[in-house]
Amino acid sequence: MSRAIVIGAGIGGMASAIRMAAKGYEVHIYESNTYPGGKLTEIKKEGFRFDAGPSLFTMPELIEELRSISGTNHDFNYKKLDEVCRYFYQDGTVIQGWNDAVRFSKEAARATGIDQRKVVRHLNKSRLIYESTAHLFLEKSLHKIKSYLSFRTALSMFKLPLLNIFTTMNRANEKALANDKMIQLFNRYATYNGSDPYRAPGILNIIPHLEFSKGAFFPEGGMHSITNFLYLVCLEQKVTFHFKEKVGQIIVENGRALGIQTVSAKVTADLVICNMDVVPAYRKLMPVEKAPGKILEQERSSSALIFYWGIKATFEELILHNIFFTEDYKKEFEYLFSKNEIYSDPTVYINISSKEKSDDAKEGMENWFVMINAPRNIGQDWDSLILDARKNIIEKLSRSLGRDIASLIVTEEVLDPRSIESKTQSYQGSLYGTASNNKMAAFFRHPNFSRRIKGLYFCGGSVHPGGGIPLALSSAKIVDSMIKPALND
Ligand code: FAD
Repeated sequence: MSRAIVIGAGIGGMASAIRMAAKGYEVHIYESNTYPGGKLTEIKKEGFRFDAGPSLFTMPELIEELRSISGTNHDFNYKKLDEVCRYFYQDGTVIQGWNDAVRFSKEAARATGIDQRKVVRHLNKSRLIYESTAHLFLEKSLHKIKSYLSFRTALSMFKLPLLNIFTTMNRANEKALANDKMIQLFNRYATYNGSDPYRAPGILNIIPHLEFSKGAFFPEGGMHSITNFLYLVCLEQKVTFHFKEKVGQIIVENGRALGIQTVSAKVTADLVICNMDVVPAYRKLMPVEKAPGKILEQERSSSALIFYWGIKATFEELILHNIFFTEDYKKEFEYLFSKNEIYSDPTVYINISSKEKSDDAKEGMENWFVMINAPRNIGQDWDSLILDARKNIIEKLSRSLGRDIASLIVTEEVLDPRSIESKTQSYQGSLYGTASNNKMAAFFRHPNFSRRIKGLYFCGGSVHPGGGIPLALSSAKIVDSMIKPALND
């Protein structure tokens, strides 16, 4: 039977495994951790459950597709959020981020005085960018000539100048909105792939469309149920998991991937799909092969610092997703990407899954996932940065919410760029692989295949089309499109 090996049981790896099993391959996943999911995992502590990594779920159709490919009967239920996010500004302004362009634009006008039509126009532009480019940038390899050989793609290339590619996201937002609070709100979408809105191309304004028009969702069992679902489907498809089996080498001979070497075994395969971050994959698993230097040297995306707090109180004014903005967004990004430090007044994101799934916290309490963007790990003095950030976050939230937050914390866990790197092998602890901080960034992500080594493919957030759950799942789909069905007897 033809065999496929997948390195890493992140969501991209498991999605690839499901697709390869459906193609008739005998699939083996080698995972260095004792659990599946990579970044998409959970923490259980003292009666609280926290989704440890991703908290925002968009494009559930990509999971539905895996359900239909595999023919599974396992359930994966989720609901659409009416109010996606609540935004808090330091002057006391609160904006409710409704999942409906017209309702949201009315709310924006009420809260900030912006002309409602500007917001609608801006969201329409976001839709135009999505409709003109998603089929090329998100669904196909940018590194195969045939991806460009369709009328639709040719039309998209022609439209690129109209789609904000030659300006930055911030400038596009300034021009379209001319309202400081709304510019800040829309600039934040750059952080959805770990980028800097003051340098990222305006074409990233594709992201709001995903949230406002296609919608944001909450999986019934919390984000970790995505991992659980993919894992169950893999098992049902007879995918074999080898946990605690770190891959040390991809075996390459005569320009072809022949298998892998772990601490305990050498395993041959017809093809190898690497879900590990592409930088350590080249440097550690194939040190003698010629690496695509320019691609591996691209600027990395931001990382994160997260406090998981059990809070012995409830907050009526908060919902599932909440943002407390900084007073000076530009400065925050200078700290993140130029100084590689944490700004003293960071934008704070609080995710409270117990708002939707009450058993995630004890009675009368809430599970707070409190995250700020952090620079990539380049050996900073994290212990001291974390101490300062914790103090600043508590002061900021206490001020904004009018309650002493420190006295409400009953349990705490911390995840920082060092631990993100050590737990998932993500180079420099980046959440989304490379940053999109220049207009060619999409073309400088590693392709989903190796140009030099036959039978070697790449999926996951560090390669094309990018980081985040939907794109990691799309990468598996693109890999799938390049691989022929297994040749079995
Ligand atoms: P990863 O999760 O990176 O997993 C790779 C796996 O490979 C790991 O399990 C690792 O142990 C394994 N591995 C690595 N090297 C080896 C080896 N040599 N041998 C064996 N196994 C190996 N995305 C969203 O869509 N929405 C969000 O709200 C969001 N928020 C986030 C918040 C945080 C704190 C983090 C950390 C991420 C967030 N993301 C979010 C990003 C999202 O989690 C990732 O893009 C996605 O999970 C990446 O999946 P992946 O397939 O690339 O694999």
